[in-house]
Amino acid sequence: TAKSSGKGRAHWYSNAMDEGRTLRSEIEAELRQALRQGDIKVAYQPIVRSDSHAIICVEALARWTSPTRGVIGPDVFIPIAEQSGLIIELGQHVLREACLAVKDWNIDLAVNISPIQFRHPGLVADILFVLKETGFSASRLELEITEGSLIENSAVAQSMISALREEGIRISLDDFGTGYASIGYLRKFQLDKIKIDKSFTDRIERDRETAMITTAIIALGSALNLPITAEGVETADQAAMLRIAGCRQFQGWLFGKPLFADALEAAFFSKTAAASRLDHDRLRLH
Ligand code: C2E
Ligand code: MG
Ligand code: MG
Ligand code: MG
Repeated sequence: TAKSSGKGRAHWYSNAMDEGRTLRSEIEAELRQALRQGDIKVAYQPIVRSDSHAIICVEALARWTSPTRGVIGPDVFIPIAEQSGLIIELGQHVLREACLAVKDWNIDLAVNISPIQFRHPGLVADILFVLKETGFSASRLELEITEGSLIENSAVAQSMISALREEGIRISLDDFGTGYASIGYLRKFQLDKIKIDKSFTDRIERDRETAMITTAIIALGSALNLPITAEGVETADQAAMLRIAGCRQFQGWLFGKPLFADALEAAFFSKTAAASRLDHDRLRLH
């Protein structure tokens, strides 16, 4: 312990902790300002059908480039936003931006909802407000929650899920397989989709056990009539194995990295993109 290893060490240790705290509170202040100035951007990553590779949905992912620190990843700023309560404002901002961007693309939109947002009593009203404001249809919106949203207070979670589903909004379980979520969860909560975590996709080719577990999860999804998306698909071999196992939806770098709206629109949803896809189909047919 710090105590038994001498005074100097204890001193150093508490200094390091202070520095950590200072850095966090500095980033928190910058994040608050970034939100106010509209510096939190949204990138969109395609989710495709495993047979045709057609884009059926995009996942909105928050992006932040700080003028002083450069790119700060969501793995850093989302926890800070959660601890400071800023996640409520950030979530609302991401949802609004995403609804406006995706509206004309004729595909679904998936948005991440943190457990902090999920236990916020105003969540449903906040979401409905943005849908109304932007004219985005509830039936095209999918909220990605993690098991953290389900375990803490399952009665509250259940009523939140039914309130959202009553509005026509779908719920998917993100990062499935990484924590405690069990098969029981899939029955207990009314979920619309499961996303198999990237860590399974990563190991599916080299680890027989992972391959078997992943196949079993996909079979279970089919049995429960739950669509399954595999996350983090990077290679054609992974895609082939997952497709053979019965997985119908893919997300990953093989099919598209997260892109800002203008880049994604130019690549997939503009007139020229549509024309080049037609050419591509024609070439394939002949
Ligand atoms: P997530 O919801 O599981 O999102 C998928 C993450 O995997 C994203 O990381 C995405 O860029 C990354 N990814 C997708 N395909 C691949 C691949 O083929 N290879 C690799 N190496 N990575 C891939 P990202 O954007 O860094 O986001 C990390 C996490 O931060 C998200 O995980 C989500 O939990 C959280 N997050 C991001 N944006 C938001 C947001 O607006 N609100 C909330 N509450 N959380 C967010
Ligand atoms: Mg997600
Ligand atoms: Mg995920
Ligand atoms: Mg994840």
